[in-house]
Amino acid sequence: MLDFELPTELQALRERARALAAEGVAEFGAHTDSWINGYSKEFSKRLSTEGWIGMTWPTEFGGGGQSNLARIIMGEEMISVGAPIAASWFADRQMGPALINYGTPDQQAEFLPGMLSGESTWCIGMSEPDAGSDLANLKTSAIRDGDVFVVNGQKIWTSFAATSDYIYLICRTTTDGPPHKGVSEVIVPMDLPGIEVRPIKDMTTNQHFCEVFFTDVRVPVENLVGDEGAAFKQTMTQLEHERGGIDRLVSNKPLYLRALAAADTDDPLVRQEIAALETGYRLGRILVYREVLKQAPAGFSAATKCFCTEHQQRVANFAARTLGMEAVTDSLATHAFAYNPAYTIMGGTSNVMRNILGERVLGLPREPRV
Ligand SMILES: Cc1cc2nc3c(=O)[nH]c(=O)nc-3n(C[C@H](O)[C@H](O)[C@H](O)COP(=O)(O)OP(=O)(O)OC[C@H]3O[C@@H](n4cnc5c(N)ncnc54)[C@H](O)[C@@H]3O)c2cc1C
Repeated sequence: MLDFELPTELQALRERARALAAEGVAEFGAHTDSWINGYSKEFSKRLSTEGWIGMTWPTEFGGGGQSNLARIIMGEEMISVGAPIAASWFADRQMGPALINYGTPDQQAEFLPGMLSGESTWCIGMSEPDAGSDLANLKTSAIRDGDVFVVNGQKIWTSFAATSDYIYLICRTTTDGPPHKGVSEVIVPMDLPGIEVRPIKDMTTNQHFCEVFFTDVRVPVENLVGDEGAAFKQTMTQLEHERGGIDRLVSNKPLYLRALAAADTDDPLVRQEIAALETGYRLGRILVYREVLKQAPAGFSAATKCFCTEHQQRVANFAARTLGMEAVTDSLATHAFAYNPAYTIMGGTSNVMRNILGERVLGLPREPRV
């Protein structure tokens, strides 16, 4: 028999996380998709005090050595109510684990403590104007000149570039060989000369997105993470982490709860829709648990991301129908609707996720290119 009850210590963690999340919302407001929209360094420092940044990192690197399940429970409580965890989420989820896996001891000593304390914020410089889904097409270059890389090019859609201390840059260190070769990962401090950041306002009026321009930016070669020219695999592993998490499922729960309170539950069609959403939520959560417990097949996070983010869009559509005019007069609802398309774009679009599922997981033949 499958037992879905959590052990007592994880239940206790859930209660503590719920209490701190409520404090965060009371003080800094509730945010749709708060792991990317709710930016508060102060709140991140409180997470750090609880040991909730790097809670799954090994203890020898200053982490908490806790289970992935513990982190998911903490994250679920925070994001479900919109608590502002964005200032530390990227470093906690991606940059820290990347440095632990591929970084040098000097890099680990220099960068991990700032991440763990919530002092340093990080952004991810992957997408470019002509390289989003097709990441191998990226052009930003980092060409070696003695003991520095000279970086030139442009990134776009870089969340938090305007407020981050470092950009984790995916760039091309050589143009020789096939496109996915010659890609490297380099840590670039955002205060180096030659970096220009231009925020982009999205249709929710949020400005976390930025364009980032690099002109002859000189970065010490010691900031290369992993092997030069061989980072494509590292980047793909990070994207696996990025796609299969609870952050893809619970980001508009406050909107769902508001719509549920307003729903006419005497209407059998509404009742059916609620049952379908509740089922979808539970299925999504099982998929995420399978990912974090490492029980899912390789590449399956593409399917998990697709299912969970499309669930979030079904929630928004339900809320629009249920709330009626309130949907355009209430600020939480209008913000959540305007934001809605982002779920199935960021971290890889649903089309691309379905390609990965078909080709890499199910082994279906690729459509011949004409
Ligand atoms: C809220 C948000 C935050 C983001 N934050 C960051 C960030 O911090 N750092 C960062 O680097 N990027 C970030 N991004 C960018 C994001 O990763 C890209 O937008 C995404 O990968 C899609 O790339 P693109 O926008 O270039 O679209 P394109 O790749 O140009 O795609 C356009 C359309 O074509 C379809 N398409 C493309 N290729 C295929 C294919 N092979 N088969 C079928 N259909 C295809 C896509 O599904 C899409 O519908 C963020 C995006 C969002 C929405």
